[in-house]
Amino acid sequence: MAQVEFRNVVKTYGAFEAVKDVSFTVGDGEFVALVGPSGCGKTTTLNLIAGLLDITNGEINVGGRRINDLDPKDRDIAMVFQNYALYPNKTVRQNLGFPLKMRKVAKPEITRKVEEAAALLDITHLLERRPRELSGGQQQRVALGRALVRDPQVFLMDEPLSNLDAKLRVQMRAELKRFHQDLNATVIYVTHDQLEAMTMADKMAVMSGGVLQQYDAPERVFSEPANLFVAGFVGSPAMNLLPASVEDRGGTVYAVGQGWELPLSPRNAACAKKASGSEIVLGARHSTLLLHDTETPDAIPAKIYTVEPTGDLTYAHAEVDAKTIVISTDPQRRIRADQQVWIEIDQERLHIFDAATEERIPPD
Ligand code: ATP
Repeated sequence: MAQVEFRNVVKTYGAFEAVKDVSFTVGDGEFVALVGPSGCGKTTTLNLIAGLLDITNGEINVGGRRINDLDPKDRDIAMVFQNYALYPNKTVRQNLGFPLKMRKVAKPEITRKVEEAAALLDITHLLERRPRELSGGQQQRVALGRALVRDPQVFLMDEPLSNLDAKLRVQMRAELKRFHQDLNATVIYVTHDQLEAMTMADKMAVMSGGVLQQYDAPERVFSEPANLFVAGFVGSPAMNLLPASVEDRGGTVYAVGQGWELPLSPRNAACAKKASGSEIVLGARHSTLLLHDTETPDAIPAKIYTVEPTGDLTYAHAEVDAKTIVISTDPQRRIRADQQVWIEIDQERLHIFDAATEERIPPD
């Protein structure tokens, strides 16, 4: 396995810049998820590593070797796509062995590698079947097996689970994670599903508009989002974001919104004062908010819009001015639409963003 290094990589399609000066390093044996909304440049980035697209500027190194000008077949990289592209008329055994046959590997060696991969992926009993006789999850495992037999330096996966139903996705997610742990493989995995990225990856590369927004461990991306985009993209439900102005009133710093104001704790006041202007955005996850039925000091007045029970938790959607705030509550609790409530914010877990630069202002 190998390390993959992106250095100031740019990809343009005509005048359009799909990947803008992206730099990051995937460590040997790491599982990195490239995540972001549709059109942010994930697939383009993956195709640049695979060699399916030419790099406009910058360089990509795999295992210390510059691969910009290498032919795709010489890159020693295996790709698993969302449509598995299995050969319909070949058996699973033949599908698995095909990449090796093309490389003129000796037959006994092909048999050994195919059987090894089949055992690892628990598809030995399916070896003589054809793809149409397999479930979606089984086909996905065969596609993975076909990449595996090549023993590549890097695995690239482009939304490999997106064709599966919800239950199977969760199961395959765990299997892929296990596969990575067992092999200690270097994996770069594209998904638009932030939960998939959070649960599987060692690191997440969050992209938007061709720009790498944050590259960090999932816990860090979740608890210390670099900017408003990451804060809004990672986590479900998304982080609540409330625009406010900063006002210093005789030593107490307030965040003032439409119809509410909140005296900031010393930690948050110090952050707010570092903003480039007087406008900030407060960021609070649903689990850091407390709902009160009666007026409570330093709590923000709001009106319940709707209530969403999910079983373990109930999500109350409350309107603060024109913004909707989501608060998780105990399912036993009675809340009804149009009810007046007050939202208390846990200021130890509140984030302050600079409204002008959209960057998070970290506490000292
Ligand atoms: P999705 O999740 O929808 O697959 P993505 O993040 O993988 O999206 P890319 O496929 O990498 O996005 O595309 C990035 C941007 O580049 C998009 O705006 C897309 O329209 C544009 N793009 C992709 N291929 C081409 C092309 N051949 N010519 C021009 N623009 C392209």
